[in-house]
Formats: sequence, structure tokens, C-alpha cells
Amino acid sequence: MAFYIKKNCPYCDDEGNLFVWRCGDGKSLAFSCDECSALWASIENIEIGSELKEVDLINNFMPSVNVPIYGPSAGWATMQDMINQGISDEVAGEGDWVETRK
Ligand SMILES: [Zn+2]
Repeated sequence: MAFYIKKNCPYCDDEGNLFVWRCGDGKSLAFSCDECSALWASIENIEIGSELKEVDLINNFMPSVNVPIYGPSAGWATMQDMINQGISDEVAGEGDWVETRK
């Protein structure tokens, strides 16, 4: 199970849920669409054109913030992660990445 936010993916006609991923630094959050896998590094800037286009797939770094996407501390964000980052009010619900695919 993973949390998704109130804002939906701008690419998927508002049908794609944006799930919250905790990055490899154990605190940075990323927002990924369960329909098209577009990835955003900031909840404040989830718009067409501002998604991460050049993710370094070898090192899995988010280029804008220089944070590794994967690692021992990475995983689906918990409610505590959301509280720590001050976005718990933006959480819309909890679901499963696969089951929510249409
Ligand atoms: Zn999408």
C-alpha cells in the first residue's frame, strides 16, 4: 500500500494517481503517476513540462535535487514521512500501485 495525493497527474486526464515515494536519502519525497510513471520532485510544481525528464537511470539520481531515488532508505512514503515534509494535508488516500491501474 502507498499513499497518493489529492492532485492527479496532469498528463492522464486527471485519472492518474500520484503516489508518494521516499527517496534514498530517507526524507526527500517524489511523486509518481501510476498510469504513465511520470515523476515529479516537488509537490508545489506538478505541471505538464515540469516532470523529471532526465532521470539518471544508472545512478538513479533526481537531477533537480541530486538525491538518489533508490537505496536502503527508499520506499513508499509513510504518513510520518508526509508529516515530516509538511504535506500530510495533501494526502488523498491509500492504495496499491498495481490495483489502481485501470
Ligand atoms: Zn500520468
